[in-house]
Amino acid sequence: MTKEDLDFKATEAIRENRVKLYIFKPSGRKMWIVVGKHGRYLVLPEAEYCTCNDFFFRVMSGEKPTCYHLLAVRKAIQEEAYSIIKQEDTSYRKILEELLSSKAENKTTS
Ligand SMILES: [Zn+2]
Repeated sequence: MTKEDLDFKATEAIRENRVKLYIFKPSGRKMWIVVGKHGRYLVLPEAEYCTCNDFFFRVMSGEKPTCYHLLAVRKAIQEEAYSIIKQEDTSYRKILEELLSSKAENKTTS
């Protein structure tokens, strides 16, 4: 996948409203999530980290510069084009566990 492909997929994700910022109340804690074709991914833009397989197998090995989820979040921040979802702090753990376990099970919830 070329840089242009990554750009295209990132732009598409933004356009289709698949970049989401969860804000937890009352702590104000934030969580970026990109809804992909095979599930939802947790993205940490400051740490340059994403929970998708592409990131684990191709970005960390240096094969790819980044995955499109990470790119989508960066672009969304720049363009202020993302949906904000407000959640209670009590749901934080549950949502986080869901995101991490869906990776392990390799669910295909598109
Ligand atoms: Zn990713």
